[in-house]
Amino acid sequence: MVSSLDLPIDRLRGIGAKRLSLYQKLGVFTLSDLLHLYPRAYEDWSSPTPIREAPIEGNCCILATVLQEPTAQYIRKNMTLFRFRVSDGETGMTVTLFNANYTARQIRKGEQYLFFGSVTRRGNSFEMSAPQIDLSGANMSIHPIYPQTAGLPSKAIAAAVKQLLNDIDPLLEEEWLPGEIRKKYHLCTTRYALQNIHFPKDGEALHIARRRLIFDELFLFRLGLSQMKTRARSHTGAILRQDHTAEFIASLPFTLTGAQRRAIIDGVRDMKREFPMSRLIQGDVGSGKTAVAAGLMFSAAKNGMQTAFMAPTEILARQHILSLQKLLGERFPIVLLTASLPAAQKRAALQKLESGEALIAVGTHALLSDKVHFHNLGLVITDEQHRFGVAQRSALAMKGTHPHLLVMSATPIPRTLALMLYGDLDVSVLDELPPGRQPIATYAVDTGKRERVYTFIRRHVDAGKQAYIVCPLVGDKEEPDKELVSATAYYKKLKDGALKGISTGLLHGQMSGREKDAVMQAFSEGKISVLISTVVIEVGVDVPNAVLMVIENADRFGLAQLHQLRGRVGRGRDASTCVLISDTESPDAINRLKTMCRTADGFEIAEEDLKMRGPGDFFGLKQHGLPQMKLANLLRDMTTLKETGEAVNDIIATDPTLSFPGHHGMKEAVKALFTVNENNINN
Ligand code: ADP
Ligand code: MG
Repeated sequence: MVSSLDLPIDRLRGIGAKRLSLYQKLGVFTLSDLLHLYPRAYEDWSSPTPIREAPIEGNCCILATVLQEPTAQYIRKNMTLFRFRVSDGETGMTVTLFNANYTARQIRKGEQYLFFGSVTRRGNSFEMSAPQIDLSGANMSIHPIYPQTAGLPSKAIAAAVKQLLNDIDPLLEEEWLPGEIRKKYHLCTTRYALQNIHFPKDGEALHIARRRLIFDELFLFRLGLSQMKTRARSHTGAILRQDHTAEFIASLPFTLTGAQRRAIIDGVRDMKREFPMSRLIQGDVGSGKTAVAAGLMFSAAKNGMQTAFMAPTEILARQHILSLQKLLGERFPIVLLTASLPAAQKRAALQKLESGEALIAVGTHALLSDKVHFHNLGLVITDEQHRFGVAQRSALAMKGTHPHLLVMSATPIPRTLALMLYGDLDVSVLDELPPGRQPIATYAVDTGKRERVYTFIRRHVDAGKQAYIVCPLVGDKEEPDKELVSATAYYKKLKDGALKGISTGLLHGQMSGREKDAVMQAFSEGKISVLISTVVIEVGVDVPNAVLMVIENADRFGLAQLHQLRGRVGRGRDASTCVLISDTESPDAINRLKTMCRTADGFEIAEEDLKMRGPGDFFGLKQHGLPQMKLANLLRDMTTLKETGEAVNDIIATDPTLSFPGHHGMKEAVKALFTVNENNINN
């Protein structure tokens, strides 16, 4: 018996070190992860089809009696063919097996078996080639098909899940969803749902199980959002007494755009109120969101309040420190806090935040850690909000006494989703680019033009400019596919080849914080002319002297991603160019590249993105900062979404902070859903 689902999965029989690492590839570390590794598909062995009615395409299950024992035919070395006739009582069919000595030897004349596979029909003769066979003949059920990785077949996963479900039977009794809600919305128990999502008795059981699990996901999602709205009605302990915006503006190296100025004024007005600010700054890439953040930090710091500024990647956090030093001068002590910081440095940073000596903390998710204590946290800012889990902003906001919250994002999202996600936020739009920006010329070319691209790069470098080359992979080992360009291999090739004599640099997420830092710093200072990188530079990176963005295997990236990558250039007064290299023949990919060449408007690209992906696309939602749901789909499961909204309202009407003892499990579940693994983001 197992006492906790947090135990690692090698607690199960048959899972040793080798299997363990394969499971980890699937993101399965704990028993709980395995329990929630839902099948990606099912094979329906539960209701056999008459041979005559077998579908022309796709698999089906046939229950048939063997008319004659299989006979072996030696085709050539290492290839034995077995053929035999079966009948479902009305129609005959030939079954062919290849090299299946073991199976063939067990098949007995006159016995009934289940065959699963595709049936081909020629006139009145039917044939099933290499079907799966259930030798027990009795196992009529729905079989789960799990997400797999090489060396870990679906059947092995199914066996592990089966064992787990048996071992944890008492734990399955636990319900975090109140009984009244289950009754009101006709939901099955957790035990039933988990058993039947893995091993459904029949189609109806699967449906019932899915409904409960989808309800759970959406319910927790909405409950998390409601928690943020509750926050907006509490009093803040960080009322801004004095506005120092004029002083900030006077000290800047440039003149703010009207939109930037308005956004800062909006923010300061919010921060003077007795309720915490919850404001979204929405502005396309390059619109100057950092300066808005700096403006609010300036006033906060002048009032003695601390700011926590959270970025999705370490590279971006480190860059923000440099940008802020430029925008704020050396007036305020700023500390960096990331997971990869050396222990001594981390300790020093924590100490400075706790004592209040440092007024500004810039960092990654590390800022969310329980170990971080602020002396007087007044303002929380998350940059590139769409890269975080949706409610993560609230985790940071829980520190201190209801601090003000500013979230910044470049990714425009459809209105219905926006209302749900950001319904608790006021919005300032940066609809104006800083002066002097020129449109970025964008070209899509095939790999045959690479030499010309290299010449183009050389020409820019000779003129004192810099370039990025982005590749879809990090190293050589990740994917055997020869077509894909990996940053490491490409870097080596170019350094001693086409770009010989030019100062090149390599950047990817597997480098240590210090290495990344050194490379980014060298690139910022112009010591590196061409940076060969993975998508780690996708968001936020700002080096205005870089005017050329070359993207290899451009078809491998989504539209939103391409737009963000392109946004790394065109950040100064010089004309910039983006070259998309691809040999793709996929109509969708070609469409994406064409869209990129046609427009630079983030809203238009987002709309196009949604159209092409279709509203059900998982990845699209993930890009918009929604928590990763396993079964639920915010756009498809609208009815359930509505029900969960009502259910959440019922709960928080009596217990807005989820502090009733019976709501403890629920509160924990919300937290779990809204936790994002940093590894998912820092690629
Ligand atoms: P994003 O909105 O993409 O985060 P940034 O804040 O990184 O944009 O700003 C992009 C670039 O524009 C930076 O180099 C920044 O210094 C510069 N910038 C921002 N505001 C102005 C302005 N009002 N005038 C001139 N340059 C500006
Ligand atoms: Mg930015």
